[in-house]
Amino acid sequence: MGIAVGDLPAALAFYRDALGLEIEASEEIASQRVRAHFVPVGQSSLELLEATAPDSPIARYLDKRGPGLHHITLRVDDIRATLAHLTLRGIRLIDAEPRAGAEGALVAFVHPSSAHGVLVEIKQARVVDPTSSVESRQSAVTRYTVGNLELISLCDGFFHLDGGSMFGTVPKTLWEKRTPADARNRITLAMRPLIVRGARTMIIDAGLGDKENEKFNEIYGVERARNLDHALAEAGLAPDDIEIVLATHLHFDHAGGFTMRDASGRLRPRFPRAQYIVRRGEWEDATHPHERNRASYFLDNYVPLADAGVLQLVDDDQTIMPGVSVRRTGGHTMHHQMAVIESGGRTAAFVADLMPTTAHVGQAWIMGYDLYPMDTLAAKKAFVKDAIEREMLVFFEHDPAVAAGYVKEQDGKRRVVPALT
Ligand SMILES: [Zn+2]
Ligand SMILES: [Zn+2]
Repeated sequence: MGIAVGDLPAALAFYRDALGLEIEASEEIASQRVRAHFVPVGQSSLELLEATAPDSPIARYLDKRGPGLHHITLRVDDIRATLAHLTLRGIRLIDAEPRAGAEGALVAFVHPSSAHGVLVEIKQARVVDPTSSVESRQSAVTRYTVGNLELISLCDGFFHLDGGSMFGTVPKTLWEKRTPADARNRITLAMRPLIVRGARTMIIDAGLGDKENEKFNEIYGVERARNLDHALAEAGLAPDDIEIVLATHLHFDHAGGFTMRDASGRLRPRFPRAQYIVRRGEWEDATHPHERNRASYFLDNYVPLADAGVLQLVDDDQTIMPGVSVRRTGGHTMHHQMAVIESGGRTAAFVADLMPTTAHVGQAWIMGYDLYPMDTLAAKKAFVKDAIEREMLVFFEHDPAVAAGYVKEQDGKRRVVPALT
């Protein structure tokens, strides 16, 4: 529920101090010239809307009507279907076509004359079918610059994992506010390998690959109408262009795309000219799986690399190419590593499963999948402090909407401000 506010301190005195509600961090929506302060209430939230410029729609609303209820937002799974349904029933729309909202959402407004005087916003928080909208097609490739390195985030599509497993000890009542679960209690995750172009061309992780069968795709709710092949092509790259493949670890959602089957069914490296760099401890663990990690390690994803002679094992934290180094985090797996990218006085970090989504920046938001959660906690504490101080551009490999952003902390609460590209 969006509430137009003329006097923010007075509004906070009521909503926060008198009613005892919690005010989350604010978000500025530049295109609307508005700052929104989110106030979670059960599964919904209030949005205190403050104008940031005299020509803001909220400023005009305040001039005309004074402070008060501005609009309500209803979340839908498929905004196009909803708009078609409303049009068919003679409902007057302000937006016949959905437009881009914050964080990859799609939004459209219903005219108040059809909604008994209320401005109704329809919002699709995430894209269900990655082929369904221009916005999601654009988000398959996102470019950033760090010093003289070009970073290109690629989307290999989406899959689904149990929400409880993704958030460990965090109760569902908390995590489902951030990430809604489907009927099978699963949440949507993206796979976002990262290209680094500098002295050489590197890819960090490579998504799921295409060796899995229908049953696997059903269990993990794999949605990859557009995958790494499309994203690479869109970025203007061919598999031949990749000179270094860097593995954060060897779980299937990171290493599946390292190998492929050729026409004769033989397994071979997916990037024919590349050296593949894997941490030795991770290699040992992945080639000797046990009962607790077996479901994540598929030998076909990496053993063919050793057979083809393109595997390079590294023992310690070190520079892989100018500007790119690896740092062991442990936690998720004993030898899980992140990539730190530094150039021209700026730093970016590809943290992989240390913080798979923006929801995982909170200290206690640690995956149940992690083998050594206390190590994750320690690594995350140290990293986030560093990331805030050095204003690092942080890449979130599994976030369904945000490829990269900056971690901010305010009153002990952390959030991620998505990076503009
Ligand atoms: Zn993993
Ligand atoms: Zn993962």
